[in-house]
Amino acid sequence: MNNYMPTGGIEWSQDWDPTTKLAIKVTRHLHAEKSPYQQIDFFESETYGTFFTLDGLMMVNEKDEFVYHEMITHVAMATNPNIKKVLIIGGGDGGTAREIGRYKTIEHIDMVEIDERVVRLCQQYLPVTAGHLDKDERIQLLFTDGLEFIKNTPDNTYDLILVDSTDPIGPGEGLFSREFYNNCYRALAEDGILINQHESPYYDFHVHGMKRAHLRLNELFPVVKVYQYHMPTYPSGHWLFGFASKKYDPLKDQNREWWESLNMTTRYYNSDIHRGAFMLPNFVMEKMK
Ligand code: SAM
Repeated sequence: MNNYMPTGGIEWSQDWDPTTKLAIKVTRHLHAEKSPYQQIDFFESETYGTFFTLDGLMMVNEKDEFVYHEMITHVAMATNPNIKKVLIIGGGDGGTAREIGRYKTIEHIDMVEIDERVVRLCQQYLPVTAGHLDKDERIQLLFTDGLEFIKNTPDNTYDLILVDSTDPIGPGEGLFSREFYNNCYRALAEDGILINQHESPYYDFHVHGMKRAHLRLNELFPVVKVYQYHMPTYPSGHWLFGFASKKYDPLKDQNREWWESLNMTTRYYNSDIHRGAFMLPNFVMEKMK
């Protein structure tokens, strides 16, 4: 029996590939709007709480957002505790800014999001991620295209750049380009780290984005690695971040003692996951070659 969908309620679904889809029973369609950049929808559901989609694709839900936001943040921080100045590109839901804001050692966070409506709607419907945005004076919100912003950023500006982008289609496409990575490299300090949304190794569409990002980062940075995490509501559930750095290696330079001395409560990230996430299955290593 594959009649797993409880009856009653409305079904939201997203195609994961031409023959596979994720379907979620929703209790309410909270909001629908077309911004100048994308279609934005917010839903309420029993299992995933409130979630929102951009152009029909799952972005953030209350149940598994912690996985993504902890993993985009803590790996770099535990590698270089001296990170002070951070740039987030995208990340309109605020989850990445919330997580990086937990470090008292961070002095300034620029968050460059192309679509102000994503931020405003998340502040209204998803306080779990966006509630932090107007409480932390270190966060500066800038509503502009990340591609343009980074072009005009002076050299050596940031210690850490977190690319929390959508897939390489629509407004997110440029955030996977060679030009964008070149400018990120330039805008990073001598010991700077770039973490990027690196797509998934599973379905063909994402594999293409993953390979392209990996190839381009490899052309620029001396240290380029990929790490994985389990994201139940993203296609296949198996997703990657890229770790590219001018100096630090996330395994050799992991500062376990410092990170553990912070006594930070996390639900996914810990010092062993930090190491384990870089141990890739053979099929993923094959695709990276
Ligand atoms: N975790 C999510 C995922 O991978 O599905 C991504 C979350 S976040 C909502 C992605 C954000 O990137 C969106 O709000 C989108 O508006 C923003 N974005 C897309 N292209 C952008 C660009 N060129 N410059 C700045 N922000 C961009």
